[in-house]
Amino acid sequence: MNQQEIIRKKRDGETLTAREINSFVRGVTGETWADYQTSALIMAMFINGLSSDEQNALTEAMLDSGERLDFSDVDAPVADKHSTGGVGDKTSLIIAPLVAACGVAVPMISGRGLGHTGGTLDKLEAISGYNVNLSTAKFKRIIKTCGFAMTGQTAKIAPADKKLYALRDATATVESIPLIVASIMSKKLAEGLDVLILDVKTGSGAFMKEFADSKKLAASLCETGNAFGVRCEAVISDMNQPLGKFVGNALEVYECVKILRGEADETMQPTLELSIELAARMLVLCGVARTISDSKSQISNALDSGAALEKFRRNIELQGGDAKVCDQPESLLDGNLIRAEIKAEAAGFVSEIDAGAIGECVSRIGGGRIKVEDEIDFAVGYECAKKIGDEIRAGDALGVVYCRDENQFDLIRGKIIEAYKISPERNRNESRLIKETIGN
Ligand code: URA
Repeated sequence: MNQQEIIRKKRDGETLTAREINSFVRGVTGETWADYQTSALIMAMFINGLSSDEQNALTEAMLDSGERLDFSDVDAPVADKHSTGGVGDKTSLIIAPLVAACGVAVPMISGRGLGHTGGTLDKLEAISGYNVNLSTAKFKRIIKTCGFAMTGQTAKIAPADKKLYALRDATATVESIPLIVASIMSKKLAEGLDVLILDVKTGSGAFMKEFADSKKLAASLCETGNAFGVRCEAVISDMNQPLGKFVGNALEVYECVKILRGEADETMQPTLELSIELAARMLVLCGVARTISDSKSQISNALDSGAALEKFRRNIELQGGDAKVCDQPESLLDGNLIRAEIKAEAAGFVSEIDAGAIGECVSRIGGGRIKVEDEIDFAVGYECAKKIGDEIRAGDALGVVYCRDENQFDLIRGKIIEAYKISPERNRNESRLIKETIGN
């Protein structure tokens, strides 16, 4: 079948064969499919959906467009975690050293932030000297030495996704669950994993705002992973407010180091809670723990003994970063910033926080990217002093902006105030962190 016939078949609601999908993906990377033809087929897929066979065939073809990593010579179960992205979502920096300290190998391939969401690579680069561009050989060497390594995606992993994602972005076809699943899983399956834990965010700061959509995405990601022999579980977690205390790259690393040092304050607790939940599930799926409660006691030991912090320190050294952040987390905070409070204008209870708006404000003062090519100011960010359910009086600080000057503060002050809804009554059920888990 040629391009036109494949497009027509999908346009008319018929199911494509694995062979046709393969020929499409090979055509995209081999450039025998023109961008307008690819865009037309993606739109037909967006409108008519994909059967699970079609979705698996698309995932496999995209996976096969690049190389697969092989960790069969690593003497430990191999696992990773993927988050669909959020605001203040920093758990990777805690989970990787934590599960590595419990005997799991973690080849973490991460992304950069865009729009309101942050990216793990940007957070890591807030540590002076930390290298996130590792060769495959060095990536493996570091994993063998300290149990985990963190790097960016190379052009060799699922190159078809890069091309397809750019066209999806340009043709308003990103928000299709089968296309999202094929995109995420083609990259994750290339990591040669035994286990993958998925943190699917839901709410105002998430890619999927509605719980029902997040649940569909979580189920579909797990099904696809399991179909390819990777044991998967998904946790649907709340993104109706930023996670934990800080939003902003260096500030988020600071929060993670404080947690690994056992010095987390109350506002940091949700970051710790979600990290433990995800790590605990990873250990059980890896066979390192028999039950979640056994898993949680191994995790407590790794935190309390300082073993997880030591793993993080070793990893920073091996990736060229300045490991003194582990001893002096305050060294991550830039003393040249001004700290300006956002004051509540009325008394009551915080009932909603538009997490997406907070993320956008941090990006606007340089803490994230509005456009892919934007430079990042690692130091700036936002501290969420009040969270959903907290009681406030007029004049209390809802949060603190860490910015370069008053102009930056003025630029986002109004938007941040608007992001908070203050109600006369406490809202008791909205802020539950773990909404649901979808398992094996
Ligand atoms: N993240 C991805 O990697 N791909 C998508 O399609 C959406 C989010």
